[in-house]
Amino acid sequence: MSWQDFALCRDLDTSDVFYWEAPAHGNRQANAAQLKAKEDAAKAICAQCPVTQQCLDAVLALPRKWDQGIWGATTEEERRVIRRQRGEPVPLTVAEQPGKAAQYKRDERARQAGAA
Ligand code: SF4
Repeated sequence: MSWQDFALCRDLDTSDVFYWEAPAHGNRQANAAQLKAKEDAAKAICAQCPVTQQCLDAVLALPRKWDQGIWGATTEEERRVIRRQRGEPVPLTVAEQPGKAAQYKRDERARQAGAA
């Protein structure tokens, strides 16, 4: 038997909770609130799981490009922090770069104004 045999999420239909993606053109605040609610729901399941550490170790052993969703009661953002603490070269995301985040928002507004 492997640790996956004991995963609490194994027999649950949780794909929309553990791997939720915001709609590309939704309301940013509503999307953020919905994402937080989904993350909290997934983490609540993980909190009851007997193999949380094994699950976290498994996702951290994957190449970062496959690291998505909630694993081992952590979000992708939280795992980026863990990976950096371990010395992995993890580039900053747009959200982690204030100047780029502001430029991204300006570009997004311009794109939406152009599409209207
Ligand atoms: S820690 Fe969470 S994601 Fe990992 S196996 Fe358990 S319930 Fe599933």
